[in-house]
Amino acid sequence: MGVMVIFDFDRTIIESDSDNWVVTQLGASSLFDLLRPSLPWNSLMDRVMTELHLKGKSIDNIANSLKEMFLDPHIVSAIKSAYSLGCDLRVVSDANLFFIETILKHHGIFECFTEIYTNPSFVDEEGKLRIMSFHNSISPHGCALCPPNMCKGKIIEKIISPVNAEGRKNIIYLGDGKGDYCPSLKLCKEDYVMPRDKYPLSVLISDNTDLVKATVHRWSNGEEIERILSELISGRDQANNNSQSLSGECKLEALPVSSEEGF
Ligand SMILES: [Mg+2]
Ligand SMILES: [Zn+2]
Repeated sequence: MGVMVIFDFDRTIIESDSDNWVVTQLGASSLFDLLRPSLPWNSLMDRVMTELHLKGKSIDNIANSLKEMFLDPHIVSAIKSAYSLGCDLRVVSDANLFFIETILKHHGIFECFTEIYTNPSFVDEEGKLRIMSFHNSISPHGCALCPPNMCKGKIIEKIISPVNAEGRKNIIYLGDGKGDYCPSLKLCKEDYVMPRDKYPLSVLISDNTDLVKATVHRWSNGEEIERILSELISGRDQANNNSQSLSGECKLEALPVSSEEGF
């Protein structure tokens, strides 16, 4: 038993978007804009990394620009304290492993996370960063809500089922974007979803209150994340002591199946 906290990365752990940041900082905006209509986002990022390499930008240039991104100190301390309280922390992100690892290590919080679910990346023999897809076209995820390379809802289902087997953990999910809506639908009423206020996830939740079973807590900045998380984590600890029903109540049959065809 315990609490699992699942974070989106871009515009949630970090203030802005790491893909946009690297593209802008390393001077690839016009190429990015040119190719945007013809390529899915993830393939586009892979292509832009190749172009940056051809222009002489090294992997260190990319890493150094990532290290300059703003990460609110309140979020760093929220993550560290959740970890020290024994929470199971995970990242589910449509960025890529290199970007996320670089930033989390730079801020000394990489070790706090049990697992990072994101698009795989590697540096090839020429020193070029390659960005792959989390889901590939050989086994499509089949979710109409999500982009082809990643369904965060499917990832959440995978995370939840073994956890359920050993005793249900309460989940707190934090995110901002459209891609965070599908996983929010997989949560049950003992869980919490923390959307960034005024961002797409928050709007989607407001428009579909009947579909979202988790309790909603909106936030606008790192200070609010820190406060809400600490309240929820301490509250859940008490709730777990006298709750028998949590383990059986929220299994996968509670998930909305209609979400894959209704949008
Ligand atoms: Mg995001
Ligand atoms: Zn999905």
